[in-house]
Amino acid sequence: MVHFVGAGPGAPDLITVRGQAYLQEADVIIYAGSLVNPQLLEKAKESCQIYNSAKMTLEEVLQVIEEAEEAQKTTVRLHTGDPCLYGAIREQMDALDDKGISYDSCPGVSSFCGAAAALNLEYTLPNISQSVIITRMEGRTPVPAKESIQSFAAHQATMVIFLSAGMLEELSRRLVEGGYPADTPAAIVYKATWADEQKWICTIDTLAATAKEHNITKTALIIVGRSVQAGSYDRSCLYDPAFTTEFRQGTKEP
Ligand code: SAH
Repeated sequence: MVHFVGAGPGAPDLITVRGQAYLQEADVIIYAGSLVNPQLLEKAKESCQIYNSAKMTLEEVLQVIEEAEEAQKTTVRLHTGDPCLYGAIREQMDALDDKGISYDSCPGVSSFCGAAAALNLEYTLPNISQSVIITRMEGRTPVPAKESIQSFAAHQATMVIFLSAGMLEELSRRLVEGGYPADTPAAIVYKATWADEQKWICTIDTLAATAKEHNITKTALIIVGRSVQAGSYDRSCLYDPAFTTEFRQGTKEP
């Protein structure tokens, strides 16, 4: 059996209870060494074989899993944040399907949630934004042309941009070209929830300068939109005394 497990954004106590139990039971752990906190590996059994996938190809990962299966061992494939975002899990799952190897997936706290926690943000503020766009700039990995930053920027919704901290001048240019005012609030969160977490609030047009000043080129998320620093916003309907819900009679009829 293979468990794909989300390690969470960094702090070792932000793995799920289920994910931690899988780690403790695993005979083999293959972890994404570039971003998974190695402290999580301290939970492994003494006899557990541990591999760092940062140095491995897909084929090598699959070989380790296959050998573990032949020996009737349980493997944890430990991905950073939540495995469903930029985790390259589909290709592993398809290969396991081909080989008839069973697997399941255990969610984790994504770094975009860790970054919101670092800044005490609510991404979905009433009348500011009710949507979060998760995307990235293309690097050596392409992004489909239909998903340009400019096209998403037209919504002026909250946007969380992964894998792009080294391209901030171009990112800002595209965000503004797409429709955000240049002075729209933005944030850079480096290593959210790690002991050396750092965070800065700036604006779209000062993103690159802020990152340069602090030498940030990777392991950071960029958050853009008025929800980062909304001066005023509507309070929620749900908790408004006048508002009737399924559970509470309001002071006014809806
Ligand atoms: N599956 C992961 C994302 C992997 S892609 C998740 O759900 O978070 C790797 C990118 O995620 C990094 O380049 C960076 O942009 C972002 N990232 C991962 N962990 C981070 C953290 N703790 N703080 C800030 N950004 C992080």
